[in-house]
Amino acid sequence: MAANLNKLILKPGREKSLERRHPWVFSGAVAKVQGTPESGDTIGIWSAAGKFLAVAAYSPSSQIVARVWDWEERAIDAAFFRSRMERAVGQRRALMGEVGAMRLLHAESDGLPGIVADRYGDTAVLQLNSAGADRWRDTIADALQATDGITRVWERSDADVRQLEGLKPVTALLRGAPASDRIAIDEEGVRFGVDFEQGHKTGFYLDQRDNRQQLRALAAGRDVLDCFCYSGGFALNALAGGANSVVAVDSSVEALALARGNADLNQFPQPEWLQGDVFELLRKFRDSRRSFDLVVLDPPKFAPTAAHAEKAARAYKDINLLAFKLLRPGGLLMTFSCSGGVTADLFQKIIAGSALDAGAEAQVVARLGASADHPVALNFPEGDYLKGLLCRLSG
Ligand code: SAH
Repeated sequence: MAANLNKLILKPGREKSLERRHPWVFSGAVAKVQGTPESGDTIGIWSAAGKFLAVAAYSPSSQIVARVWDWEERAIDAAFFRSRMERAVGQRRALMGEVGAMRLLHAESDGLPGIVADRYGDTAVLQLNSAGADRWRDTIADALQATDGITRVWERSDADVRQLEGLKPVTALLRGAPASDRIAIDEEGVRFGVDFEQGHKTGFYLDQRDNRQQLRALAAGRDVLDCFCYSGGFALNALAGGANSVVAVDSSVEALALARGNADLNQFPQPEWLQGDVFELLRKFRDSRRSFDLVVLDPPKFAPTAAHAEKAARAYKDINLLAFKLLRPGGLLMTFSCSGGVTADLFQKIIAGSALDAGAEAQVVARLGASADHPVALNFPEGDYLKGLLCRLSG
């Protein structure tokens, strides 16, 4: 079967990463392409010595020129997508039970390169981030709509990475009827309205689910500062956990409007929502000697790739240093990086530098990551983007 496909032939020695089952082929590894495959087409990957390696999606305008669909010679068709999706969804149900808001498809780590889908109640929000994924839009939308509990498929393919694949942004209702009201999800008893049409990413940061629960468990009686709060994920869980007070900061007016609405949705008192730049606000708080018992730092991606790591490291160091200065003795810092370019090891070194320069004696009491619906395939360490530390200041 693969014999009928156009062939991408690697330079000698460049088959090694594929033999370790890393699913990407970089343009520099390619000796030649036989035939005239188009962007998104399925091609066969072959070693220089003529060994078949994988079937993959071709993406000629990207540095990642091919992404592996499968290591066996098999047809890439509707049945392939259905079976991969059933596997991904079934594995989550087995591990987490029936959860109304969760990631259903996590791209490379689910054997579906470039394909992300999040479930919010009866709506699946789909993100297609590669040429191969884009090619199979209709097939994927059909398979998602056939998933238990899903009636609507909304596409939010507007991530920057699409540009690297030569793709334009797409936002559209693909299947089902438009939602009459804003969709609201229930996450362990706290409700959130999800703006999947205009909100960030697919509308909500599902990856922080477990960490929001951990924060809730720690919040009782504490004065909490939630930095980069978006729609109030951590802030509202702090209230649910009995925080004494909650201050939450974001630069986005729209995010804060969602957050206010979410406090109302739960009939919680409104936290002190502050619109502004966290870098500036932390300095203001330091200068006015404001202090907290628990600080959350969940900034956006400062380093999409390792090339940005140095600049990102300075930004992480800055906010974490300031956060340590605002903590009362015995206080807790829950700090995150979702930068692919910053490893867990580097992140811990940065935080150690922050504590040192803040004159703070602190310990790591927990290492944090994304919840189980965001698995990381061991052959794809790039999938391990979210890392966090829970630190305790000596008291
Ligand atoms: N903690 C949130 C997700 C945070 S996403 C949750 O659990 O849902 C990062 C947020 O940082 C976004 O809402 C973005 O608007 C905000 N942001 C980005 N740069 C900022 C800055 N310099 N100051 C304040 N907020 C910022």
